[in-house]
Amino acid sequence: MKEDYYDILGIGKNASAAEIKKAYRKKAIQYHPDKNPGDTKAEEMFKKAAEAYEVLSDPNKKARYDQYGHAAFEGGGGFGGGGMNMDDIFSQFGDIFGGAFGGGGFSGFSGFGGGGQRRAKGSNLRIRVKLNLEEIANGVEKTVKVKRKVQAEGVTYKTCETCGGRGQVTKITNTILGRMQTAATCSTCGGSGKSIDSKPNDADAQGLKVSEETVSINIPAGVEEGMQLKVPNKGNDAPGDGVPGDLLVAIETEEHPTLKREGDNLHYDLYISYSDAVLGTSKEIDTVGGKVRIKLEAGIQSGKILRLRGKGISSLNGYGSGDLLVHVNVWTPKELNKEQREFFERMQNNENFEPRPEGSDKSFFEKVKDMFS
Ligand SMILES: [Zn+2]
Repeated sequence: MKEDYYDILGIGKNASAAEIKKAYRKKAIQYHPDKNPGDTKAEEMFKKAAEAYEVLSDPNKKARYDQYGHAAFEGGGGFGGGGMNMDDIFSQFGDIFGGAFGGGGFSGFSGFGGGGQRRAKGSNLRIRVKLNLEEIANGVEKTVKVKRKVQAEGVTYKTCETCGGRGQVTKITNTILGRMQTAATCSTCGGSGKSIDSKPNDADAQGLKVSEETVSINIPAGVEEGMQLKVPNKGNDAPGDGVPGDLLVAIETEEHPTLKREGDNLHYDLYISYSDAVLGTSKEIDTVGGKVRIKLEAGIQSGKILRLRGKGISSLNGYGSGDLLVHVNVWTPKELNKEQREFFERMQNNENFEPRPEGSDKSFFEKVKDMFS
C-alpha cells in the first residue's frame, strides 16, 4: 500500500498551494541527503516527499489524485507519481527554494545512491501533439519527427582539466541550511570527467550534431489537454558517455464538431422533429467509433437522456470506459400551413395532448441529479 501524499507531507487535504509548498520545503530540508549522509531512510523520505510534491503542486495531477488516489497514475505510462530520480528532484528545487541552492550546488553530492561519478544527462526536448477525440477515446500510437542532438562520430576525448576527471568540483556555499561544503558537477565537462580532444567539423562544442529521427509515441486512452507524457532517452544526447535526456510530449486536444467531453463521458445533442417524437423513429448519431443508429420509442419526451454504456472515453487509469449520453431535444415547428394549424387547433384541447408526466418521465433537474449520483 502506497503512503498517502498528504500524510507524507504532513498536511490536510484542504491545504493551499502555499501550504503544500511550505510543507515540502520543510521535509526537503529535514531529509536532505547532505544533512543525512549515508542514511537510507532519510533518502527514502526525501524521495517520497519529492514525489508527493510533484503531484500535489500540479493542479491537474492533484485533481486526479484527489479523485482516484494512487490509481490515477498507474497504467498510464509516464505520468507523474512514481519513479522520480534525483535529477528530477533537484530540478524541482529551483522554484521551491527560489534559487537558494542555485547553480546545481546540490546536484553532485558524493556518497549518494551508491556513490561514484554521476553520469551527465542530456537536455530534454519538448514537443506538442494534437489529438482528435477518436484518438483520445481509444489511445493511439503517434509517429513524430524529432530533431535530436546526437553524438557525432569521430569525437575523441581527453581527461577534463578543470576537475581532473572526477566530474565534480568541491565548493563552499552559503545555503539556507548553513555553510556547507558541496560537491558540484563540473561545469566544464558537465560531470562526465572528460573534455573533447578533437571533433569533426559538423559537431558543436559538445561533440554533438543535430539528427532528425522518427520517434513513435504510445499515447494511452483518456489523456486530457495539458497533460505531459515522457518518452525516456529521446531528448538530446549528453556529451561524452552520459545518458540522453527525455522527450516531453504536451497533449493538445481538438474539439469534436458534435461530441462534447466531460471527464470520461461524452455528450451528444440530438434534435428530432415533433412527428418523430410522437410516432417513434431511428436516428444516426456520431460516436467515437463511427456512426451508430439508435431507436427512439414512440412518445419519447424532449429532455430524455439515452445512455450508451461504454461508448465514451476509455479511462486513463485503465478501469473501464465512460458512457455516451444522448440528449433528446424535440424541435417545435415555428411556422405551420393552414392544414397543420387546423390539425393542432383540433388537438389543443384533446386529452391525449395533456402533459401527464409518469415516474419514468423525470424532470430535467431529477435527471441531472441522477447523472451525478
Ligand atoms: Zn570536468
